Amino acid sequence: MTELKDVKSIGPKSLSLLNKINIHTIEDLVTHYPFRYDVLERNDLSEVEDGGKIIIDGKVESIPILMRFKAGLNKMNFRLVTPSGVVGVSIFNRAFLKSQLTVGTGITVIGKLDKSKNVITASDIKMGVLSNKVRIEPVYHCTSGLTNKNISTFINMALLMHGKEIPDYIPNEYIEKYNFLNKKTALNVIHNPSTSEKLKEVTIRLKYEELFEFMFKINYLKQQNKKEKNGLERVIDRGKIDKFIKSIPFELTGDQVKAVDEIIGDLEASSRMNRLLQGDVGSGKTIVAFIGMLANHYSGYQSALMAPTEILAMQHYLNLKKFLEKEDIRIELLTGSTTKKDKTEIYKGLKDGSIHMVIGTHALIQDEVEYNNLGLVITDEQHRFGVHQRANLQNKGIKPDVLYMSATPIPRTYALTIFGDMDVSTIKERPKGRQKIDTYLKSNAEIKEVLGMMYDELKAGHQVYVIAPLIEESENSDLTNVCELRDKMKLAFGEHYKIDIVHGKMSSGAKDLIMEQFKNNEVQILISTTVVEVGVDVPNATTMVIFDADRFGLSTLHQLRGRVGRGTSKSQCILISDSDAERLKIMETVDDGFEISEEDFKLRGHGDLFGTKQSGDMAFKIASIKSDYKILLQAKKDSKEYLLNKETDNDELKIKLISSITKG
Ligand code: ADP
Ligand code: MG
Repeated sequence: MTELKDVKSIGPKSLSLLNKINIHTIEDLVTHYPFRYDVLERNDLSEVEDGGKIIIDGKVESIPILMRFKAGLNKMNFRLVTPSGVVGVSIFNRAFLKSQLTVGTGITVIGKLDKSKNVITASDIKMGVLSNKVRIEPVYHCTSGLTNKNISTFINMALLMHGKEIPDYIPNEYIEKYNFLNKKTALNVIHNPSTSEKLKEVTIRLKYEELFEFMFKINYLKQQNKKEKNGLERVIDRGKIDKFIKSIPFELTGDQVKAVDEIIGDLEASSRMNRLLQGDVGSGKTIVAFIGMLANHYSGYQSALMAPTEILAMQHYLNLKKFLEKEDIRIELLTGSTTKKDKTEIYKGLKDGSIHMVIGTHALIQDEVEYNNLGLVITDEQHRFGVHQRANLQNKGIKPDVLYMSATPIPRTYALTIFGDMDVSTIKERPKGRQKIDTYLKSNAEIKEVLGMMYDELKAGHQVYVIAPLIEESENSDLTNVCELRDKMKLAFGEHYKIDIVHGKMSSGAKDLIMEQFKNNEVQILISTTVVEVGVDVPNATTMVIFDADRFGLSTLHQLRGRVGRGTSKSQCILISDSDAERLKIMETVDDGFEISEEDFKLRGHGDLFGTKQSGDMAFKIASIKSDYKILLQAKKDSKEYLLNKETDNDELKIKLISSITKG
């Protein structure tokens, strides 16, 4: 396919701005769908009130008169003939339009009508009159330096010149069956809809395509799992496991015991384990996973535990070492920042089998990593690992059993579909003695009260997390925000307490250092810009303050809240927001993650369940698992039929879909 930089009209500067919003290929560009449409309906002069908004078509009747003011400002006046009469138009700072506004040119004017003067003060002028009364304008997510118009121009240029190169993931037979438009035409319509009916039609087509591709991959993985019935044969000494469980300083909950049993059952079974372990934050999944690793070790195999971030990998590593300190087990940590020397050592140990357990990030599934006898792979927060990584994992070593941990419960019906290839263990019961985390919704005006609540906790020797306001559009302003917030916090608490920041732009080394200080109570207030960085266990932290809480889905808020309440002291979570109170109030009363995820699902569709940025292939561009559930089911059925159809085995598309799964 032609490269993005070779699209006419995209210069190097635009290219880097596009990259910033994650557009790297022509395909990314043309599937950068509008997040909404503005519907511009034209008015007659008579139907608009004095001072009212007007959108009107007409022809330029007089040569525009241009006036220039100080500081480069300017204004243009001209007359416009419309079907409902002649009207004056004035527009500021569009001198550059003068040459195009020749007498007789058809245009659309958007602005405010002054009836007494019979003048429209225009906010915008669009060249050309349209044949329809209604005009539908796409609105895109932009970044500073790129306007909506720029993006629209780039997309249309790419479609015009290279539209034929854009791959279509729907096999021909289904395009015919559903009478779908071809991909290029569909894309053209979604970016330049003429009517809302047409828009609706192609939206369904593009949603179906996205879900078809996704479900094809899920179905493929499921089929592969079934085929490879030859899991590891092993017998696990349950007595030894029970003895170990008795040595843990607390008693496992009933759900934990059940999950452990299910996992051990899977390890012993001759087919491979492919299990999802889901449970609320703090419900004790990690311990269950560790016991699984121990059982795997007792039966003579290596285990790997993969976490989404380095900090979490480190935390698991330290916990596991402590947990198994009495056992004679070699455990290593392998992440992107492991030194070259250590890496070489670890690769060697994994290959010769002297390392029994390894914890790390994606570094664990790089090509250079070879295992001696990998028997169990566990991934934490599996939503962040896409289908590709799942496949990659399963291709490692001998056929390991695989356990996925997730703290984002998914309503059962949906789970059955999108994780249709897995068994599910669920931990609902909480460890004994857990206290409810009090949750308060506060407005920005009540900030003093919030600071007071923070102060009380700090005085009692506890620590506080602060999630800084987020601004989606630009990462730089995130940073200003968080720095401003730090200054404010310093002003309030700086004299007695240490305050620090972690944010996404920091190197992982720097982040780890600050997290370490927070863990050791050398820092009392930790300000963080992102959700991921705070996925650590600090029992002395009892207060979570979340600014702009309305920006998060309930499940994310619930996860953040789960960062406190890990020790014996009463904990609290304060949500600060000036809007969306009705939704946020749910957090004050509901503290069950499953219930919250159901609410989230009702309110927002899948969006937040899978996180937004970290979600891997769950982040659909146009489809929504919830509101498009019917399309999903159809796509599931069709993709399965297509997968199993032997006649299509040499199909170019099929080969492409399959190889995209295994290559990542
Ligand atoms: P999750 O991974 O599900 O978020 P963790 O496994 O990190 O939760 O557990 C949270 C905390 O609860 C840990 O400090 C863990 O040691 C503790 N814990 C786990 N299970 C129990 C239990 N049955 N009783 C008491 N504490 C427990
Ligand atoms: Mg966890």
